[in-house]
Amino acid sequence: SAIEKSILVTGGAGFIGNHVVRRLVNNYPHYKIINLDALTYAGNLENVKDVADAPNYSFVRADITDLEAIRVVFATYAPDVVIHLAAESHVDRSIEDPLIFVKTNLLGTATMLQVAKESWKEDYAGKLFYHVSTDEVYGSLGETGFFVEETPYDPRSPYSASKAGSDHLVRAWGHTFGLPIVLSNCSNNYGPYQFPEKLLPLFINNIKQGKPLPVYGQGVNVRDWLYVEDHARAIDDIMHKGKQGETYNIGGHNEYRNIDLIRVLCKLMDKKLGREEGSSEKLITYVTDRAGHDMRYAIDATKLKEDLGWMPSLRFEEGLDKTIDWYLNNEEWMAGVTSGDYQKYYEKMYGK
Ligand code: NAD
Repeated sequence: SAIEKSILVTGGAGFIGNHVVRRLVNNYPHYKIINLDALTYAGNLENVKDVADAPNYSFVRADITDLEAIRVVFATYAPDVVIHLAAESHVDRSIEDPLIFVKTNLLGTATMLQVAKESWKEDYAGKLFYHVSTDEVYGSLGETGFFVEETPYDPRSPYSASKAGSDHLVRAWGHTFGLPIVLSNCSNNYGPYQFPEKLLPLFINNIKQGKPLPVYGQGVNVRDWLYVEDHARAIDDIMHKGKQGETYNIGGHNEYRNIDLIRVLCKLMDKKLGREEGSSEKLITYVTDRAGHDMRYAIDATKLKEDLGWMPSLRFEEGLDKTIDWYLNNEEWMAGVTSGDYQKYYEKMYGK
């Protein structure tokens, strides 16, 4: 069938990006999906192996901070839509090494915006720059209340500050140059293919191996959890039906204190691994809290529900169950990711 639209997904080899790419490639054979990724430590072509041979899929290795490289990508693929997910994404790394977050998330986003503006030459019919962001830009909540789209920005980590800045850049290109933009800010994602530096895959792996479970502070920080495929579906809905210039909050209405989540996980893992009840919980060790650790995030996703009809499809218990099974059934993926083998995999497939 004839190609109706070219969609450039940045960061498509990362955790959320692979789910977005898979969904678009499989559901829209008349769209051409171009996955642009620099393949940093967090990007892994194994994550998109199942769509690699699809006729409507291409992969291009490029760095979003490299102006000339991004120009070449636009000249080659002439994308109508950009779904921008590429970013440095891990708060702990942003505390250790903040400058790469400023470079990738700010300069990288500005580079994507600028090249989109140049290549679309103000012919914006059918064009869209969709920026994927986080609820962490809104700061930290007390015990009550929710983030809405109008909540003032109050980012508090180098990661969230760099994402907040990237959101501002996107709005500035929209306001100043008329670039057609849309944004979404989502809560914590979980599910298959998440890099095992993040809480759930890390803890699943550690429990399996009988290693300690390092819990920050008292474990009382609250996060709202959303299954990653529900996020990918929200992105699909917003890309197709969202109003230009708008922002949509995406969340699961699934708040857990870290320690409560970890206890639920431990119980499930005991069962699945056939271990004595309570044995996984014994691995919990409290460690020095993360510097500047935000207390609570919670999203009010009413706008997305009322305007576009989106709702989470999975209850947390179901999502967690599926997620654990996936990690237990994909030991090779986990081993490859933890040993850095996927870097070599890329070189083997595509050269340096
Ligand atoms: P991730 O770290 O798993 O993936 C990031 C991807 O971007 C990787 O494939 C990496 O190789 C690529 N990348 C990094 N720097 C690049 C560069 N300079 N040029 C090209 N590609 C580069 O992150 P994720 O968890 O999938 O998050 C994706 C996006 O969603 C991010 O923008 C993040 O801020 C946002 N987000 C994440 C969550 C979450 O819970 N994970 C929640 C809300 C929003």
